[in-house]
Amino acid sequence: MREFFTKVFDKDIFPIIIIGLSLFGIIKYIDYRFSILENQVNSNEEKSILMQKDVKNISDLVLGTQSNVTDVLEQEKLKNSLMSDQFQQISSTVGALEKLSTTDPELLKKYSKIYFLNEHYIPVSLSEIGENYRSEKSNNYQFLSDALPFLQKMIDAGNSDGVSLKALSAYRSFVDQTNLKANYKVSYGAGANRFSADQGYSEHQLGTALDFSTLKTKGLLEGFDKTPEYKWLLENAYKYGFVISYPKGNAYYKFEPWHWRFVGIALATRLHDENKYFYDEDQRIIDNYLVKFFDEQ
Ligand SMILES: [Zn+2]
Repeated sequence: MREFFTKVFDKDIFPIIIIGLSLFGIIKYIDYRFSILENQVNSNEEKSILMQKDVKNISDLVLGTQSNVTDVLEQEKLKNSLMSDQFQQISSTVGALEKLSTTDPELLKKYSKIYFLNEHYIPVSLSEIGENYRSEKSNNYQFLSDALPFLQKMIDAGNSDGVSLKALSAYRSFVDQTNLKANYKVSYGAGANRFSADQGYSEHQLGTALDFSTLKTKGLLEGFDKTPEYKWLLENAYKYGFVISYPKGNAYYKFEPWHWRFVGIALATRLHDENKYFYDEDQRIIDNYLVKFFDEQ
């Protein structure tokens, strides 16, 4: 034992032992510091994971709120568009009612030898047919004011296609008609009834019917069915709302190729597409078109 201590405190070994102990202490200390650092890093990682979770929660919350806000906005938009649809429906109903209340139902009635227009009937408003649209410039032919633009547009379109339609007669009052009938009777006797007074009588009093002539037929009705103007009318008049009242081979009246009546574009187009004539169509179906009478397409 003594020997051992003697050796330990020996000059040579002692410093080595001291150095060894010191190194051991240093290593232990370093190890201890490392473990502290390691713990700190771990706890930081945990914190970072927790923070990430927090961030995710917040972002979920924000996104959720956003989508809620978007949903609410979408719902409001939907409500608004429903309300605007309803408003439009109401407005168009009001518009239709207004049109119906201001459009004279007589304008779409079928007249016959049994059902005549009242002799006191006068159109709401009449306007003079422009000079260039008349066969005789001196005669003041009148037409229903709201229907006149359709007539003039049709004649213009005919001119562009190389046909020259001219109005020979348009609105005729009950008195005009009676005088005309008397004149015809002088010229044609009882035969006058067949082509003047009976047919087209009421239609002329409406202000929406007219007789056409051409420059070539020189203001005469006869022979109109042989003209390119007549052919053009058969193919195109419906586009402007006009129909032939008494077509060839009709079951009711003598053929009147020159006599055309404005019934509105919608009805004229339907009749054209279905290859029907005004007087063949059911009055109840015709009446449905009153609301579209002055529609431009
Ligand atoms: Zn006529």
